[in-house]
Amino acid sequence: MSGEYVVSGTLIYGEELEAREGYVAIAGSKISEVGFERCDSDIRGIVCPAFVNSHTHLGDSIVKDPPFMPLVELVAPPGGLKHRILSAAGAGAIAGGMRSSLEVMRRTGTCHCIDFREGGAEGARLLREVAGPRATILGRPAPGDSVEAVLAAADGIGISSTRDLPPGAAEDIAEKTKKAGKIIGIHAGELNRDDIDTAMDIMPDFLVHMAQAVASDIRRAADRGIPVVACPRSNAMTGVGLPPLKKMHDAGVTLALGTDNVMLDSPDMFREMEWTDKLLVHDDASVLRMATLNGARLAGLKKGAILPGMDADLIVFDAKSDTFKSSQNLISTVVRRAGPGDIGYFIHEGKVCRNSSRKF
Ligand SMILES: [Zn+2]
Repeated sequence: MSGEYVVSGTLIYGEELEAREGYVAIAGSKISEVGFERCDSDIRGIVCPAFVNSHTHLGDSIVKDPPFMPLVELVAPPGGLKHRILSAAGAGAIAGGMRSSLEVMRRTGTCHCIDFREGGAEGARLLREVAGPRATILGRPAPGDSVEAVLAAADGIGISSTRDLPPGAAEDIAEKTKKAGKIIGIHAGELNRDDIDTAMDIMPDFLVHMAQAVASDIRRAADRGIPVVACPRSNAMTGVGLPPLKKMHDAGVTLALGTDNVMLDSPDMFREMEWTDKLLVHDDASVLRMATLNGARLAGLKKGAILPGMDADLIVFDAKSDTFKSSQNLISTVVRRAGPGDIGYFIHEGKVCRNSSRKF
């Protein structure tokens, strides 16, 4: 088949993330075959699924690292710092910021993000123009916009919180989104528990944050099969407290990871994984799954695992890098220690990009 090539070395294989010697054959944008015989190829290394960042706000890339201040003053619509800056910014400046953040994501091994996009249908179209298929775009109606107009321009809806909407509005949005066969995500339990029950009532495709979740919330999310996207660095930055991820994990809640507002945190999944693992979860494979397959499934994507038929979105780490020398467990090293400097090649939908900052 034309354009077919092979990547070999130690594969972090399948849904169980088994480290096995082998090869991945890539045809076009897909993984066409995975085998476990020794195979020589030009591209060799530690082959890992590329990351899926399950929660971003790329639109606020135009303002970075504001002073520490309470969450409401930072990001609450409509008067928070973020919204004041966004409403004063032109589309060109916003698009330029989003482009830079997408480049940071590419250099740090992320193939796709799920973005909560402000600015109504127009805002969703702007991100589509900049990101193409690299983002799942969950828009929200701007004043004067209908839910239908946003759904026509986006992959679904991202609600800031049920507390920002009049009674019944979240249910109406959820019904329209599901009817259109699109995705609905919602922030819940970031500042307090007030919006957790109402968020779960609409049966969203996923909740974001749940930093304030208590045992009954965790049980309800697990029983209803509602996944949670955690953003622990963002929660630390805004001072709301860290989410009880170990309890959620042990209760069987499906977890994914996001870096949240670019204004607050770099969209670098290595940093998010290390924080999450060492502070909260202490389970390397689960955290790597949160950063890959679990996120991909939220967006209905065939990404996040090295298996035939999946999109060929791969990080090939340099096995000879000083970071991987003396590693006792490759998955632990990827999650707790590795960084963008250890990436030899990044493969996005079959296209190979060599890390030009490394010397081979
Ligand atoms: Zn958010």
